[in-house]
Amino acid sequence: MNNANQISIFDNNEPSTRDSQQWEQIPFNADIPITPGTYQNLDELSHHCQKCQRCELAQNRTQVVISRGTPHADIMIIGEAPGQSEDEQGLPFVGKSGQLLDKILASVELSLEEDVYISNIVKCRPPNNRTPSTAEIQTCKSYLLEQIALIDPKIILLTGATALKGLTGEKKGITKIRGQWLKWQGRWAMAIFHPAYLLRNPSREKGKPKWLMWQDIQAVRNKLDELRNNN
Ligand code: SF4
Repeated sequence: MNNANQISIFDNNEPSTRDSQQWEQIPFNADIPITPGTYQNLDELSHHCQKCQRCELAQNRTQVVISRGTPHADIMIIGEAPGQSEDEQGLPFVGKSGQLLDKILASVELSLEEDVYISNIVKCRPPNNRTPSTAEIQTCKSYLLEQIALIDPKIILLTGATALKGLTGEKKGITKIRGQWLKWQGRWAMAIFHPAYLLRNPSREKGKPKWLMWQDIQAVRNKLDELRNNN
């Protein structure tokens, strides 16, 4: 190999298949698809998300909310959208709902440092905390699919009906389907109640949402142990 060829190898930071100009336009032009494998790591994905204007949710956000937790997670939790606290802090699930979620995880010895990565179906706060539209979910979902591919979790937990429907297309109500193991693209997945719903329904009585969540999170812990032991 001559010197010129060797130098060109070190000059080229992008894969040869990547059109650099088009790649830099991805966050600004929703017509350019985010195809599987667009991002080689989470830093590249974050670089685009931070400046993304692909849907109208960009107009009112304070910060883009990408993730919290370890990139080596075996469990990925997907919520609906950032709320006010998340928008202000730039992190998902950091308000009262997030504090409850952390407690639920800790109750079965799961931590964000070791086991869990959290993100949302859409990365920017919808005005007045409205449910994100189907179009917004579809536009932002490509980032989520890339996150899932890069994290490669053994288990995906979907908090609430919007997250469930947004990722899997499943339209059944959350009270009907929560706690059931699903297979989504070869991965184990379960819909669970959104922690905000548990805050509105604080009873610990048997059969109530908090009690059901306790059953579900124990099932998740058991499934994780089983999957880890089989590796
Ligand atoms: S919600 Fe997603 S697609 Fe829309 S602007 Fe934010 S990061 Fe981009």
